[in-house]
Amino acid sequence: MNKYIFVSGGVCSSLGKGVAASSIGALLESRGLNVRMVKCDPYINVDAGTMSPYQHGEVYVTDDGAETDLDLGNYARFTKGRLSLANSITTGQVYDSVIRKEREGKYLGKCVQVIPHITDEIKSRIIAVAKEESDTDVVIIEIGGTVGDIESIPFIEAARQIIHEQGKKNAISVHLTLIPEVAGGELKTKPTQHSVKTMLEAGIQPDILICRSPLMLDEATCEKIALFTNVDIDAVFTSPNINTTIYQIPIILLEQKLDQVILRKMGVESRHADMRPWHSVMERFFSRQGKVRIGVTGKYMEIHDTYTSLYEALFHAGLECGVVVELVKIDSSKLENREDAGAILGDVDGILVPGGFGQRGINGMVKAAQWARTEKKPYFGICLGMQIMVIEWARNVLGWTDADSTEFTSDSKYPVVSLLAEQINVKNYGGTMRLGASETVNEDGTHIYAAYGEKRISERHRHRFEFTNKYRDEMIKSGLIFSAYTPDGALVECVEWPQSEHPWGVAVQFHPEYKSKPMAAAPLFRDFIAAVKKNK
Ligand code: GLN
Repeated sequence: MNKYIFVSGGVCSSLGKGVAASSIGALLESRGLNVRMVKCDPYINVDAGTMSPYQHGEVYVTDDGAETDLDLGNYARFTKGRLSLANSITTGQVYDSVIRKEREGKYLGKCVQVIPHITDEIKSRIIAVAKEESDTDVVIIEIGGTVGDIESIPFIEAARQIIHEQGKKNAISVHLTLIPEVAGGELKTKPTQHSVKTMLEAGIQPDILICRSPLMLDEATCEKIALFTNVDIDAVFTSPNINTTIYQIPIILLEQKLDQVILRKMGVESRHADMRPWHSVMERFFSRQGKVRIGVTGKYMEIHDTYTSLYEALFHAGLECGVVVELVKIDSSKLENREDAGAILGDVDGILVPGGFGQRGINGMVKAAQWARTEKKPYFGICLGMQIMVIEWARNVLGWTDADSTEFTSDSKYPVVSLLAEQINVKNYGGTMRLGASETVNEDGTHIYAAYGEKRISERHRHRFEFTNKYRDEMIKSGLIFSAYTPDGALVECVEWPQSEHPWGVAVQFHPEYKSKPMAAAPLFRDFIAAVKKNK
């Protein structure tokens, strides 16, 4: 069985389309169906890897090293289906391959056009995901942007064609809109009516509406929406504003029977929904006690989306450790040139230095690491955060005062972090970092070994720079612990402060946040929060 669910959005962006699509995936999985998720992104970049965090938020990396949209992170946290390059379709990729085929003469002299050649390319990529694994039941395709946008037209058109070709039972449209509240507390349906009209102009009659609204919609409002949009009244759902967690949304939609309506429309029989994992997430959410404050010290701190997976992983760790994790976002450049880092770091209980690129704010991150080390606060470094931990140790313990990464200073006497050998001749920016999953071997008796309980682990990478091996012996002699390496021993993957001197200081070259789930926090995040809680 291959069924297709297209999830589009209207009225405005940032309504939580990714979470809605992911929640549908979670509901269908809870009924025993095999679900695959796809994101269509209308931008012309081939992938999200070259975009600034200010433009785009986090770059989510898959096992196969694709640099994708942050919605794939939502899919990974809500659903189980495999995610890879194939699950992220951009206008850039589509045009790139159509133009290549044209140059190879594959179109046999035809005039190559948006319809049918671009739309065919989009359709064949979506159908390829459905066919990739023989047991796939449903493919959920989220179309980025808002209907009516010029750049999403080919994706909407591809959806229309698939719905037409596969038939109503095999392909449906779910449309997410906004029901705003105006003065006096009145909920307004007009923008939703217009948004559905825009869908109809594109040839798609939505089968299901999910309405973002401050409140649950009442019967009369649903009736009005149904009347104006040709959508069945029982297929109008509310995604109300909530102050708990996004992981409650699958339960809220289940309570309104969204799963039943989808399955009825597609003519699918399935077992009853088993939502126990989601209920237990909520039980843990409500039974957390006490609070820890984590100082996330990096760049781009004003934009939450930059570190979505990281913030989610901290939240998951809080669920697992039974404690509320409060994020204290600290712009590291504010710590630069200040002797009293403590005055800004104040009463945080632990420091996390996340990934990042470029020189700005680096010395502030080093200050934060030094403060955590000397004040004996748990420290967790990720990617750049590991490089910072090494630089801090070199400068302040070994006394190599100008130690640095060659990413930031080209003439340091102690370039303790430098370009990976494989990067030296790389000229292009896009897709050329050390990317994706690879194996790491943990040393016995270390924090990382304790966290994973395993010697060999696989985690995802996204970096160009790495610890410089010629300093390895001197660093080890001075007490720094190298606790994990690549299987060939060539690259340092984890660095720790000595357990005898510090409660918990661990930094990794990889990104454990990408694999964290609400039901199972990434092991190092869990142990970091456990250490913070214990140390408090
Ligand atoms: N800028 C560093 C590098 O390229 C760290 C990258 C990261 O934190 N993802 O190695």
